[in-house]
Amino acid sequence: MFSQEEGQELVFRKNIKEAAERIRNTKAVVLTGSGISVASGIMPFRGKGGLWEKYDPEEMASIHTFRRNPRAAWVMHKEIYDVVKEALPNPAHLSLARMEAMGYISSIITQNVDGLHQKAGSKTVIEFHGNIIKLICLDCSKLYPAVEIDLGSLPPLCPACKGVLKPDAVFFGEPIPREALDRSQEEVQQCQVMLVVGTSAVVEPVASLPRLAKNRGADIIEINPQPSQLTSSVTTLFLQGKAEEVLPKVLEELN
Ligand code: NAD
Ligand code: ZN
Repeated sequence: MFSQEEGQELVFRKNIKEAAERIRNTKAVVLTGSGISVASGIMPFRGKGGLWEKYDPEEMASIHTFRRNPRAAWVMHKEIYDVVKEALPNPAHLSLARMEAMGYISSIITQNVDGLHQKAGSKTVIEFHGNIIKLICLDCSKLYPAVEIDLGSLPPLCPACKGVLKPDAVFFGEPIPREALDRSQEEVQQCQVMLVVGTSAVVEPVASLPRLAKNRGADIIEINPQPSQLTSSVTTLFLQGKAEEVLPKVLEELN
């Protein structure tokens, strides 16, 4: 007889094989959330050690607060940016980039603003919430790579018109970029497998993409150390574990 632990390990192995089998037969669409970047040292918003224990999200990442008091909002964003600019992709990002290069992934739809999928080498990345690698001028809409802007005094100002610069991420109260919406809808329409990694799937409208895919007959494979609100209702195959441990195993199985 197997111990309970050995039994769980066997089930896990079987699930990894099964996931690889489903991915092998099609091009998967991947949906990622902040959990995939935890091993790169970027804390998720919700949960222990999250940024929101220190700052109120609705307040500090709201466009209304930003417009009213850009300096106060920038204090938090500078703290995030300082972590993000030094962060490196972890084995989860790297496995996805490899899987795309091998032809198993058609696109990555990400809620993350950290640019780590691109740093890992992924080519087709749809940024649902923009990113903080670029800054946008609230007055003239000019975009600047954040590395080119001096963040020594906050808020940073536009070199062209002296308007206030804002991270080019989608703040609460701002619309999702049209192009990201359209492209992700297209991806969801045609996908047969959606791989959902490290998201609690509570932020709309991205949270409803897995359900849309499922309604169109796609398999939903979810990777997360904790069950999410998708797990019992939408997920067809749940790989319980950390993205940086599970994705390299799926890749190994595909190889
Ligand atoms: P969330 O904070 O709501 O949920 C994080 C999820 O990751 C949880 O379900 C958690 O169980 C899971 N998780 C934790 N560690 C993990 C690991 N090692 N491997 C896999 N999963 C793990 O995050 P969310 O659902 O992405 O939504 C929050 C919003 O905050 C998003 O819109 C995103 O734009 C933004 N955000 C982005 C970043 C980033 O760019 N890295 C960081 C924080 C927040
Ligand atoms: Zn400007």
